[in-house]
Amino acid sequence: MGFNTSLLHGAAVNDKFGATQPPIYQVSAFSHDSAETLEKVFANRSPGFSYSRIGNPTVDSFEKRIAALEGGIGAVACSSGMSAVTMALLNILKAGDEVIAGAGLFGGTIELFADLKQFGITARFVDEVTAECIEPLINERTRAVFTELIGNPKLDVVDIKSVSEVCHANGIPLLIDSTTATPYLVRPFEHGADIVVHSASKYINGGGNSIAGIIIDSGKFKWDSEKFPAFDGYKIFGKFAYLAKLRNGFWRNAGACISPFNAYMCSVGLETLGLRMERICCNAKALAEHLQTLDGVTVNYPALEASPYHGLVQSQFGGRGGGILTIRAGSREKAFRLINSLKYALIATNIGDIRTLVIHTASTIYLHATDEQREKAGVYDDTIRVSVGIEDINDLNPFI
Ligand SMILES: *Cc1c(COP(=O)(O)O)cnc(C)c1O
Repeated sequence: MGFNTSLLHGAAVNDKFGATQPPIYQVSAFSHDSAETLEKVFANRSPGFSYSRIGNPTVDSFEKRIAALEGGIGAVACSSGMSAVTMALLNILKAGDEVIAGAGLFGGTIELFADLKQFGITARFVDEVTAECIEPLINERTRAVFTELIGNPKLDVVDIKSVSEVCHANGIPLLIDSTTATPYLVRPFEHGADIVVHSASKYINGGGNSIAGIIIDSGKFKWDSEKFPAFDGYKIFGKFAYLAKLRNGFWRNAGACISPFNAYMCSVGLETLGLRMERICCNAKALAEHLQTLDGVTVNYPALEASPYHGLVQSQFGGRGGGILTIRAGSREKAFRLINSLKYALIATNIGDIRTLVIHTASTIYLHATDEQREKAGVYDDTIRVSVGIEDINDLNPFI
């Protein structure tokens, strides 16, 4: 099955009336014929649903579709991308543990790591997530490496294979936030990643109409008792240990579930991911090539020949550079003037919409960051982030 076919038929909707879309089960609870049946559902001895914070058929269908697309053994949908990042990490971390993370991460994730300090969890940041940079930071307390595949907004690209090899040689999993790459560019499990998370609010949904997140497990990582003693009680689940622990533990008890309606919206959006990404990548490349010919403007887009990640984009992403580019306009004033002069691009803090969106990063999404954090994320006073949409390229080209 090709990518676009798999979006429609990869994990088919299994509805007794033949509905072509998973119906929206917008309910809190599910009733059962007898006390015995509900007992079995609660004890995971019988399939079925009891309460939508724990499981819901619409959500289940969305999870199965994403798991199939990423080539994972299962997925757990969450209320937001941030909740997916939080749950994916807290499912394996405890006080005293360390995580190695990229310094150029999404602002919310950087702030999350600061929040986790009070619980005794320490993040060690590396300027670049490469095998060489992470290896010296690994010690007996390290429990995970967390990175974005294409940093938002830094747009640095991670070589999954070499980084995962270092992780596995040290008995720790590689967690990847693949929001900006999407499965259209790459399936990270095929290159050695262990857990993938997405902010489904972005490209998976595509229409900018729901906040949502999802965690997918490759099922390949071996959770060793010494490093991950909390997994001991989940050994009976075999390769499903991570997902079982997540579902029966922190995710359920923190109440991180997605609403059935948002799962439905993301499920519908997902079906056109291939078409949208094809167009978006094409538009982004054309726009980046046009912008880099302009005086006083520098463009950062991983698929450009001048990008240090050009080779990796070819080998890992089949030449596709994704939908985000950043521009340095020369000064903050020029950046503001440029943003205000745009005809169709919306000034908004989001990415992955079918509409082109622009934002001045330093004064918005990096407002609360330190100068050092900004610099490490490639955020300068004159940086504009563009999330390219599916408009006709001629309407985007006069962008400047
Ligand atoms: C948006 C985003 C998030 C957070 O997702 P929400 O759905 O807004 O909570 C996390 N990681 C990346 C790379 C993002 O772009």
